[in-house]
Amino acid sequence: MQNAIKTGISYFGNRNPRHFISDLEEILTHNCNFIVHTFSENDQQFYKDTIRELVSLSKDAGLECHLDPWGVGRVFGGETYSSLALRNIDACQILPDGDIAPAICFNHPKFRGFMRAWIDDAAEIGADVLFWDEPHFFIDLKEKQRFDVWYCRCDACTRKFHDSHSKDIFDADRESLIRFREDCVVEFLSELCDYTHAKGMKNAVCLLPIKDASIGLSDWSRVAAISNLDIFGTDPYWMFFNEDLRAFVGDFSRDVVQLCQQFQKEPQIWIQAYKIAAGREEELQEAVAVAYSEGVRNFAAWSYYGNAYMSYNRSDSPQRVWDIIGDVYGELQRGEWE
Ligand SMILES: [Zn+2]
Repeated sequence: MQNAIKTGISYFGNRNPRHFISDLEEILTHNCNFIVHTFSENDQQFYKDTIRELVSLSKDAGLECHLDPWGVGRVFGGETYSSLALRNIDACQILPDGDIAPAICFNHPKFRGFMRAWIDDAAEIGADVLFWDEPHFFIDLKEKQRFDVWYCRCDACTRKFHDSHSKDIFDADRESLIRFREDCVVEFLSELCDYTHAKGMKNAVCLLPIKDASIGLSDWSRVAAISNLDIFGTDPYWMFFNEDLRAFVGDFSRDVVQLCQQFQKEPQIWIQAYKIAAGREEELQEAVAVAYSEGVRNFAAWSYYGNAYMSYNRSDSPQRVWDIIGDVYGELQRGEWE
């Protein structure tokens, strides 16, 4: 089954099962075989049984169901707010200059407890796979130069650093801070993956396509090595990052495939299907082809219908974006690329 083609699409925005039924028909005619439902803090609090209905409809239609902690704690990717962060200022990340970041800290016990309850709910409403979407310490890409190294110096991190290094985090050198931050992300993900497996679900992780040590995870092998991780990937959104498609998608796909071979994981590449400029829709097919040529067989696109329903990220011609994804997925499913 390792070479079976996986073609997925993320779904959010609409929470109304009546409307989802017609969207679901399109998802099937667009040759998807898995769906990534977002399950944000807001969904968990106010739409849990509604999402259970969306998951149930998806599974009845034959789709594998992935659940995404979309924007949860603002530690995962997602255009949504965190009530958890607002209600627990004491558990928020503290930036190097002492400012409070609008995101929960990985190391705070409140967040660990919250995530276990989120996993319990995801299992209860029928998820097959939990999708750990862009886990990262808080960064502001528009103000990237603000700190030489972005890290958190909250009480939990300060204590943890002191326990492992026998010195104060304020006296740490750059390399120690980078290593510590990565240790924390890997430890957090390992804990989530262990608990998810114990609950009978699989784990997928998607890392931000940023290897700059001042803000991102520079050593991806540490995440790929997590024993209970099943699917490992990244989202090289070439148009969003204004990068050359062939180099950006190709290099990251190659890295992901190599690490997956080394650690026996399934490689996954996300394809940008939002904020696609008019006239550039054909690039989606090229991105899939580039990743395919590197050995990727598990594709997911963000998101359904070219993200038409979220003005902040919508494509200029969402129908065209969506149809190209559907066509490419169809060719892959029919084995035309073999
Ligand atoms: Zn912290």
